[in-house]
Amino acid sequence: MSDTTTEPSTAAGTETVVVIVEDDPNIADLVELYLRRDGFRPFQAGNGARALEVIAERQPKLILLDIGLPGDLDGLDVCRSVRATSNVPIIFLTARDDEVDRVLGLELGADDYVTKPFSPRELMARVKAILRRAEGLAEPTAAPSVVDLGAGIVINGARREATVDDDPVPLATREFDLAMFLAEHRGLALSRRQLLDGVWGADWIGDDRTVDVHVRQLRKKLGDGLQLETVWGVGYRLD
Ligand code: CA
Repeated sequence: MSDTTTEPSTAAGTETVVVIVEDDPNIADLVELYLRRDGFRPFQAGNGARALEVIAERQPKLILLDIGLPGDLDGLDVCRSVRATSNVPIIFLTARDDEVDRVLGLELGADDYVTKPFSPRELMARVKAILRRAEGLAEPTAAPSVVDLGAGIVINGARREATVDDDPVPLATREFDLAMFLAEHRGLALSRRQLLDGVWGADWIGDDRTVDVHVRQLRKKLGDGLQLETVWGVGYRLD
């Protein structure tokens, strides 16, 4: 391949390859325009099969992935396939509300999602936040910690693992981050905004529902022993 991409430094943008998987050319072109303007190198794919080819060929730092795609593979299939070999960040472009719940409910390792119609500005903010975060994760992290939440629930920050009665419970990235953040602020009622800022980052533009969906997942996965209370009119508190 003639394409010898130079590794970009930490700056968002500069030559960072992003693959846009989207069958609506208007959306794809608009997103491409914004990415280019911020110095990214975008590549497009209009269906699932093509997406896998382009991703394999271009080795993107980030994938923007539409769910409803023509052909045999939809966006969720593409995500599954990519996740079999790679942890590259994926932002889903969802068309309907029920798709949001599917994305978050499935253990597909989606890093983020935006709901159509989205503003390109908002999408770019997400793109940059995710890339910053991905870079941050690659660096050695701070002190590992093991938190015993009672009822047999233990969170291990170093191993990024949760266990219930010593059985590992798989948590998605943000679910784990949320559990850890709640554990670090145990006994305090935290607003959804505080949780969004603390877990998703201050530049996250998502709505409260993101927090609710993740809380629901945590409760489901960690079980009734989890003392994660809804504080009416405020948010949540881990006791
Ligand atoms: Ca579509």
